[in-house]
Amino acid sequence: MKEEDVLKIVDFHCDVLSKIQLDRNLNFKSDNGLDVNLERMEQGGVLLQCFAIFLSERLGPPGIEHIMEQLDLYQERIAAVGIELVRNTADLDRVVASGERAGMLSIEGADGLEGDLFYLRLCYERGVRFLGITWNNANWAADGVMEPRNGGFTRKGLELVQTCHELGIILDVSHLSQKGFWELVELSESAKRPFIASHSNAYHICPHARNLQDEQIRAIIESGGRIGVTFVPWFVNDSSVVHSEDLLPHIDHICQLGGEKHIMFGSDFDGIDTHIDDLRHAGDYCRWVETLLKYYPEELVNGWLSGNALEFLRKWIPQGK
Ligand SMILES: [Zn+2]
Repeated sequence: MKEEDVLKIVDFHCDVLSKIQLDRNLNFKSDNGLDVNLERMEQGGVLLQCFAIFLSERLGPPGIEHIMEQLDLYQERIAAVGIELVRNTADLDRVVASGERAGMLSIEGADGLEGDLFYLRLCYERGVRFLGITWNNANWAADGVMEPRNGGFTRKGLELVQTCHELGIILDVSHLSQKGFWELVELSESAKRPFIASHSNAYHICPHARNLQDEQIRAIIESGGRIGVTFVPWFVNDSSVVHSEDLLPHIDHICQLGGEKHIMFGSDFDGIDTHIDDLRHAGDYCRWVETLLKYYPEELVNGWLSGNALEFLRKWIPQGK
């Protein structure tokens, strides 16, 4: 395999937009206050970065204006320095062929959509292609994983799922409650549309509520979905210093469950203030590639870094001419 093939990394989750919304002085080009910036994407070989729209509690009650503001910030700060938005398969093919860096947009938590499906359509028109239904708490659509009552979807939430399926927005179960997860499995089955967990690890290896139980991992694999192994230290293990090699048991475990073609990465960079000690920002992907190649065949590593994600996207984002 050639070097340029290895350094085509797809990362399925970062919170840069939320950080810039709170601090307009942050410069996406090279500001070291950002784990993901242009310089670091180039350094780490990140080809395609998924940018989440997460609304901080510091903004006050979540509203559509906050989502629109982050969409504007994407255009003004990120697309403006050359990270063009991928909306369909034609855009994706262009990116892969040219090797030019690109971005995709997801919403992390439907809170800011205010229960209004017109707002969802508006976001779709502006390029949003993924929706994480909840963050940790309950919202109008469903309960998050930290909500003690463990509720599933509301009536409105079921409509949200249906509309996403109609539009071609891919659903993301990271942060969703157990009950919500299993309800979504059924809905996805009948719609014949798979779903992803953009940033979650294996509960069997690290028993944190945000990680996926074995049955959940199997269900995602069965749906044809993808799991973004994440670099959040406390989802890796409970030691005070976490190393990148501590991620390997998570990868091995998902493989044992049959998921080697379903693994990708969702770093959660800029969504965390503590890092894996040798995976601190997008530039460290270089080193991470070397570590993976020490332990696994190139073909598998290449799949995890980009192949599995790209194959999924080609199939499930809107077809473009
Ligand atoms: Zn998250």
